[in-house]
Amino acid sequence: MRTEPVMHPGQAPASPAVLAADELLLVPDQVLLRDGPRRDLAVVVANGRFREVGLAEALVAGNPHLEPIRLPDTLLMPGFIDAHHHLSQAFGKAIAFGEPSEIFRRIWVPLERSLDAELVYLAAKLAALESLRGGFTTVVDAGTRAEEHTDAIAEATRAVGLRCVLGQLCNDLGDGADPVRIRRRAEVHLVRWQGDELIRPSLAISIPEAASDVMLQGISALCAEAGALFQTHANEHLVAVERSLVQCGLRPIEHLHRVGALGPQVLLAHATLVTPAELAMLRDTGTAVAYNPVATQWKGNAAAPAEMMAALGIRFGIGTDATRADAFRLIDAAEATQRLAFGLASGDSSCGGGWLWLDHATAAGAEAIGLGGITGEIAPGKAADFLLLDLAVPEMTPSWDLTWELVRFASRAQVAAVFTAGRLRLWQAWPVDWDGHALMRSVAERVAAAVASAPIQRVHPRADEHRARVQQRTASPVLAALATGSAP
Ligand SMILES: [Zn+2]
Repeated sequence: MRTEPVMHPGQAPASPAVLAADELLLVPDQVLLRDGPRRDLAVVVANGRFREVGLAEALVAGNPHLEPIRLPDTLLMPGFIDAHHHLSQAFGKAIAFGEPSEIFRRIWVPLERSLDAELVYLAAKLAALESLRGGFTTVVDAGTRAEEHTDAIAEATRAVGLRCVLGQLCNDLGDGADPVRIRRRAEVHLVRWQGDELIRPSLAISIPEAASDVMLQGISALCAEAGALFQTHANEHLVAVERSLVQCGLRPIEHLHRVGALGPQVLLAHATLVTPAELAMLRDTGTAVAYNPVATQWKGNAAAPAEMMAALGIRFGIGTDATRADAFRLIDAAEATQRLAFGLASGDSSCGGGWLWLDHATAAGAEAIGLGGITGEIAPGKAADFLLLDLAVPEMTPSWDLTWELVRFASRAQVAAVFTAGRLRLWQAWPVDWDGHALMRSVAERVAAAVASAPIQRVHPRADEHRARVQQRTASPVLAALATGSAP
């Protein structure tokens, strides 16, 4: 990773000091608008928003009090939206590799429940830093199982400068859950972040089977009333679909539909195992989906038919599900997963043509998570959540179709700067106003004890143990004897 500012002949380099001003007139080589990349444009950033987006010549002439900051070979593009995350799972991100479905039972619930407020803060801050480094400026947190420490996630994301739709869990089935208390806590959560620049409250139920029908309907309705997002995981794994069928005779999305919990305020994580009837329910109710292609690759039973959803008019964003916080690898996975799961069988060699995945990771993603009026686009009035991307790299030379190249070629190593709410947060991948390395040291000091004290049950061994087992299984006694010279 480069640590020095980009130097271009005849230009003063953009630097953190220059980019830290309250008002900015940025003149990049290209600006990524919703309908594609454009040259000769500039943007004025003021009070955390894009005040103007227009022809560079006009903006320079109209803002004589601002020194234009010229950014050659640079794309100014929207920050990505991670439509599904679990920020408090950061300590366990490499523990879940190779695990079969429903790892929440064996890994995430035990890990998150064992964290105190300080550990939730450290985990969320680490995850938030990873998100910004990966090009995300907004994440949706699906609600930590350390329910009492949800505030620590808000504190962490604010400290890092990441926009966060913050879920509060409202599961009312299970040990000692008190529906009255859950409802009261939900109401408090919905009002306490009013006016916050970066935090948007959301309510969540982990999976439909974790709540009563009354709670599912009530929490979804509460969100609709408050203009907040209601989140739940639905139809991800065969075991969950079958459990729901056994419990109530309906598949999870059918169940949500029957209790009146679907609607435009709802974001369903996964929706991978969906029937045509369930797709119709999503479309007819305006329910949105978080399509999580890396989670599908790592632990899924199926891929969400995201291209089909787009064709049907079902709203969706793209999420990491706490797998890896790299927006470029995520959109690449979004496209590749559709191609492998559906495009091969139908002869669809386009699978969205690149732009679909870029749009659903930015503007359409913001709409799916209820922030369409706020972020996701380089447009006047929208929050100035954006990236400066270095285009002067061999991988994107020559450039014929920048939109698709961003999906297939671009890398987070090209992200020179990350802004949220008009403020420079990262420069060359590191925070500009706090110490990212100190955070990593704090995590290193605490993480081993935190993970050791959690009653995690792993099924899959680490890679080296796995290799040893495979070698043991496949070892030929004759070859082993020859190798040791003991063969007759
Ligand atoms: Zn999830």
